[in-house]
Amino acid sequence: MKKIFIIFYSLIFVLYYPHIAATANHAAAKNLLESKIIAIDPGHGGYDPGTIWGDINEKDINLAISQKLTKRLESYGAKVILTRNGDYNYAIAGLHGRDAKRYDLNQRIKLIESQKADTALTIHVNSVTKNSYEGAEAFYHPKSQEGKKLALAIQQELRTIPGMEKRMPKFSDCYMLRNTKMPAVLVEVGYLSNPHERKLLQDPQYWDTLAGKITDGIVNYYNAPDDVIGQGFWQETTSSTYFMIKLLEYSFNFGKNLETECDCIIH
Ligand SMILES: [Zn+2]
Repeated sequence: MKKIFIIFYSLIFVLYYPHIAATANHAAAKNLLESKIIAIDPGHGGYDPGTIWGDINEKDINLAISQKLTKRLESYGAKVILTRNGDYNYAIAGLHGRDAKRYDLNQRIKLIESQKADTALTIHVNSVTKNSYEGAEAFYHPKSQEGKKLALAIQQELRTIPGMEKRMPKFSDCYMLRNTKMPAVLVEVGYLSNPHERKLLQDPQYWDTLAGKITDGIVNYYNAPDDVIGQGFWQETTSSTYFMIKLLEYSFNFGKNLETECDCIIH
């Protein structure tokens, strides 16, 4: 009886306080992702390091965060499909450049589809020529409404990290988002090109924070009512000075989005 009461109370708590529910009430809510199959794809691997800064490789950060994310999602009862659990990719000998990249991504997508994942996340680190850009951001495919909802739920949580830039989710024609049937999101956890964020992205405690927030976003996606996801979110962003600066920058660069240069966008 006591157990039923705890579960009932947890559900009410999550419905009304999705932001804090995932962490504060974790002990009583550990079945919130039960029966869900979630695919986590740590971007790049093997000879493909992704973004590089000195001896820092994107592929290593992607894997470390994905492994922490796996543990957290499993603690909520989810079954996690990790597309790689080491330093490798799936390209075969004889393939080069984009052909190798496409082959690698297709193998990952095949794995995700064959395991019947309900949702998929691909984890990456960003880097651009301007070192002022920072902040984690979630991307969804423009044709996927559910992908957009998932991105919104994840972005909403990432924004609660102290000092985090208040970014909005964006759409992207990323290969993995375009070629997966389930709701899928690309999370660019931050910018290696930004000195402050570069330091954070090498800190295992920050990987924990990111993994925790992404998990909270997924928990909310599955459990919070639609109108709670993204509540007050757009207004908060569009009224900020940061948003106005970005809008001007975007206009002066003839619509080229300087912040999104992930090389997973192949055609
Ligand atoms: Zn990447």
